[in-house]
Amino acid sequence: MNEQSVRVRDETAAHLTQLLYRETPTTILAHIACALLLVGVTFEYVNERAMLIWSTLFVVVMAGRVGVYWVFERETFRPEGTKPWLTIMMVVAGVSGTLWGAAAWVFMPPLIVEYQVFTTMVMVILGAGAANKLYPNIWVFALFSGPMSGLLLARILTLPSPMQVPMALACLLIFGLLTFFTTRHRAELKESLDLRVENSSLLDRLSKDMRDVRSEYSEKQKIETQLRKQTAVLDAVSKVQSLFIADRDPNAIFNETLETLVSLTNSEYGFIGEVLLDENGQRYLRTFAVSSVVYAHDPNMDPTGLEFRDPDSMFGQVLQTGEPLIIDETIPFEARDHVPPGHPPIHAFLGIPLYLGETLVGVVGLANRSGGYDLELLTAIDPVITATARIVEAMQNRRARQDDQVQLQQAKDQAEKANMAKTEFLSSMSHELRTPMNAVLGFAQLLQLNPQVPLHPKQADSVEQILKAGNHLLELINEILDLSRIEAGRVNLAMEDIDPHDVVADCIAYITPLAQHRGLTLNADLPQAGRVSVNTDRMRFRQILLNLLSNAVKYNRDGGEIHLAVHHDGPGQVRFSVADTGSGIAPDQRDEIFQPFSRLGAETTEIEGTGIGLTISRSLAELMGGNLDFESEVGKGSKFWIDLPGSMEGGARVEIQVEETLLPEVPTGHHTVLYVEDNPDNLILMEEVIAMVDNVKLISAHTGELGLEMVDVHHPEVVLMDINLPGIDGYEALRRLRANPATHDLPVIAVSADAMSEDINRGLKYGFDAYLTKPINLAQVIDHISRALDGSLRRT
Ligand code: ADP
Repeated sequence: MNEQSVRVRDETAAHLTQLLYRETPTTILAHIACALLLVGVTFEYVNERAMLIWSTLFVVVMAGRVGVYWVFERETFRPEGTKPWLTIMMVVAGVSGTLWGAAAWVFMPPLIVEYQVFTTMVMVILGAGAANKLYPNIWVFALFSGPMSGLLLARILTLPSPMQVPMALACLLIFGLLTFFTTRHRAELKESLDLRVENSSLLDRLSKDMRDVRSEYSEKQKIETQLRKQTAVLDAVSKVQSLFIADRDPNAIFNETLETLVSLTNSEYGFIGEVLLDENGQRYLRTFAVSSVVYAHDPNMDPTGLEFRDPDSMFGQVLQTGEPLIIDETIPFEARDHVPPGHPPIHAFLGIPLYLGETLVGVVGLANRSGGYDLELLTAIDPVITATARIVEAMQNRRARQDDQVQLQQAKDQAEKANMAKTEFLSSMSHELRTPMNAVLGFAQLLQLNPQVPLHPKQADSVEQILKAGNHLLELINEILDLSRIEAGRVNLAMEDIDPHDVVADCIAYITPLAQHRGLTLNADLPQAGRVSVNTDRMRFRQILLNLLSNAVKYNRDGGEIHLAVHHDGPGQVRFSVADTGSGIAPDQRDEIFQPFSRLGAETTEIEGTGIGLTISRSLAELMGGNLDFESEVGKGSKFWIDLPGSMEGGARVEIQVEETLLPEVPTGHHTVLYVEDNPDNLILMEEVIAMVDNVKLISAHTGELGLEMVDVHHPEVVLMDINLPGIDGYEALRRLRANPATHDLPVIAVSADAMSEDINRGLKYGFDAYLTKPINLAQVIDHISRALDGSLRRT
């Protein structure tokens, strides 16, 4: 038997013993009832002395049983202490059985059969009762019923009666049956106990399993609750982060983050703020978001940007210590008194510092969670708090970036202003320089060109040098000014669809003398007028083409060739190319050539130049929606081209014939030209220039108003008009001339030191028939006058 079975057996025995003892009062009463019945029915016929002795013994035995019961009732019953009680019970059963067996000898008178049967019945009833009560303990039953039945049978057999044998047999049968049923019950009981013992380990295991399952279940529930909490926290984190990623308005980000925190912690309201330093280095708090209940009493209050500087307030405490602050009703806390008037009451408060590394960047405050706040909650929401701190950091970075961008914009504005100032400066420099240069270069040209006073070859050389240096100076200032405008993005282009024929012809005419001077052959191959159209700024186009042509002259070899051609270069594009037979450009210098001031070594030669012509030309070409590029072979020559949007029809090509004339002819007859100019040097120069032309007389006026009067009085056929004049300027004078029907068609040519192409475009647009820039080119001036006189200078 294993330990388990022993324990179950002992427990069962103890239980039964206890039950049997409990039954003692009923059993005694049954015994007394039977004894009284026997004594009462048979006392007349039985031996008085024997009956008295039996009755006395009976009373003694019953009293003993009551005594045992009485002691048993007082005992604290323990299973391991069952054995003595069982022994007592067996002794009692044996004594009682013997007493009842003896009763058969006392109460069965020899000759009265009815009494014999009656006594037998009473004893059978007692036996049946004992069998019913005592079957769990077979020994107790045997000790009772054994002596009783044995003595009864013995008595029956000794009686002189004809019923002697059948009665003995009946009794034997009854007691046999009782014993049989008792043992059977006992066997069943034992079997059920054994079964219980057998299954007890299983039951034990089952109950242990049950316990495990129960505890696992509750563990699982715990984990699930925890998981739910963590999921809620993670949801909150991802919500907070996605708000930021979605680049929402900062107020909305913080409001929603706060709402998430409030609902996650079951709080009533709260705030999120950033930590800033005041001028004394003290921390203070500025809110990003405050729950709406807090300012419900004051609808005008703006909850963002509120500042809290009170170090004794609840926020102040967190700022001072940099530690979380948990307050509930049980803690008396003065800071609670520091809430502003109208603020909803605070029962519980959780102040959480937001850290980035070691730096305290903000504070989250949460209030009135039912049940208050604890460290466990603080730990649980830690991921959301970290995410919030990151958002605060990102906000601060974003703000810093924005600050940088304001600052950047400022720097850009300043740079632009400086650029503009530079452009203004260069522009006025150019203007101021042109006026004296007009005299210098004009008179030098006079010296060079005046047929009446021919120069000595050495003087001619010197004049040549003056002109070269002067032109270089002008070119330099022009180009620097141009470049500075392009860099400042201040180029105004007058884009239009033009027939480039005239511009090309003009450029060829301009460049031919220079080419001839170097003994170069210039071939031009271009379609007839009216066959080509390009979209461009006329002046700028001319500037680029001249730049390419003059480079082809400058960097050519003596006696070389220049070929200018116009072709269709793909649909919607027209290419103007200038090829030369110069030294060419090395491939590794391809990019350098378009860098400003880069001359690829030409600066050490006698060839004049600034190194910015091509930079400007390419930029202008691109600004006009075109392109400028080149191909070159060292030692053989280069081909530069400009592509412009436009169209072209094939057809007969014309060769431009360039006639070399020193000074143009003026139509015959006597002509009067008026020059409106306030600068005396320029006036004298023009007088000298016009003096070279026999049949033209120059009259002059030094103001616009005077000029208009002179037109009235002298009826000049052409007016040369300076722009910058004291009193009304050249534009106003022109306007008045055009407004007067008498002078409406009078040719007016601007002669100005405002030499930028914008100035020229503006002048032409305004209605001047031509726009000449200072310093003047003598031949050009005379050519324009003669064209104005013969009517070929027409306003377009
Ligand atoms: P520059 O005023 O010096 O002529 P550009 O910008 O027009 O300035 O040209 C830059 C440099 O490119 C020149 O100095 C020269 O070295 C080189 N270059 C330009 N055109 C030619 C050409 N047709 N052949 C050879 N070199 C050229």
